[in-house]
Amino acid sequence: MLIAIAAETHPGEHRVAATPETVKKYLAQGHTVRVEPGAGLAAAIADAQYVAAGATLVPAESLYAGADVVLRVRAPSEAALAAIPDGATVVALFEAHRYPHRRWLADKRLTAFALERIPRTTRAQAMDVLSSQANVAGYRAVLKAVQHYPRFMPMLMTAAGTVKPARVLILGAGVAGLQAIATARRLGAMVEAFDVRPAAREQVESLGARFVEVPSSEAEQLSSQSAAGYARAMSDDYQARQATLIAARACEADIVIATAQIPGQPAPLLLTEAMVTAMKPGSVIVDLAVDSGGNCALASPDGCHVTAGGVTVLGCGNLAAELAADASALYARNVLAFTALLADQAGHLAPDLADDILAATCIAHRGELMPI
Ligand code: NAD
Repeated sequence: MLIAIAAETHPGEHRVAATPETVKKYLAQGHTVRVEPGAGLAAAIADAQYVAAGATLVPAESLYAGADVVLRVRAPSEAALAAIPDGATVVALFEAHRYPHRRWLADKRLTAFALERIPRTTRAQAMDVLSSQANVAGYRAVLKAVQHYPRFMPMLMTAAGTVKPARVLILGAGVAGLQAIATARRLGAMVEAFDVRPAAREQVESLGARFVEVPSSEAEQLSSQSAAGYARAMSDDYQARQATLIAARACEADIVIATAQIPGQPAPLLLTEAMVTAMKPGSVIVDLAVDSGGNCALASPDGCHVTAGGVTVLGCGNLAAELAADASALYARNVLAFTALLADQAGHLAPDLADDILAATCIAHRGELMPI
């Protein structure tokens, strides 16, 4: 297969879909790799490293000519789509439910795989881009909060007196939330975390944090999670009990990291303006769910808002891109594992759409758009 790696053009996107490490592996599998000059620079990869790994540098104008497979982080823009040859295969984080150029995929008879749709199964674990990137985001979220927090994180006992440890509240204990707990704990904070899935309790406690629980019936606990392990939207009554509890915990917190999401739906609103207003001056909120509506009423995408009461609210939709070198290394390995499903034993492009992972991720094939 002839594989093309483009420089990402989406604002703020610093990641790249292949690294010298994965380029070497594609070559060892018999593929040819072209890389757009500068594609890895924002992820701390020089062009020379790609060349040393065996890739050919090809300028944007001719990068895609004859390409079988295009590997990207973000879905192609209109201009990139125009340059990709008809019938080629594109692998990216399409965010398919809101990708504006889906019709083009069919018109150009492209085969498109949306990596955010990879099932959370054991077989797909090595390809799970959502987990690898959420892990990076959870770590980065804590560092981001610390940068804006005007106090120490750990407890300190000094000749000038004692410094109390920071109290960190994590809303949503999925992949990002668990990494945020671990990172805040490593910095010495006291951490508590909340999730609608009762299964999260054990994971939260195993990281040394306290699990905050909304009083709920057995039926509510059973309905909080889908068969796929994802959270479900909860009843109005549950949400009211949850709001009371979060309001009380947020008042005590110095830092809130909000990561709660429900796949395919708007993120739950967990921190209202009134709750933020009641927080202590100097507190910091980092909202990772901001691109799907946000967990905090005052968060805006890529925004930093300081309230009149001195609470800093950061909306951070793409924190993985801020740690681009490691995020790219992990993403590129996920993509390498996924791409192995696209080739037959002779190394030719031959995706078998009966494969459960390819079936779940394929959003367009030979002129047909798959239901999203
Ligand atoms: P996510 O990004 O969809 O959501 C983040 C967290 O927010 C989840 O833990 C969710 O339960 C929680 N949440 C949703 N609504 C909430 C609310 N109203 N209040 C508080 N919390 C709320 O989740 P994710 O990190 O992608 O993980 C989703 C699930 O998939 C988890 O159960 C996780 O353990 C599982 N998972 C499985 C695998 C695997 O088996 N390969 C890999 C990764 C994740």
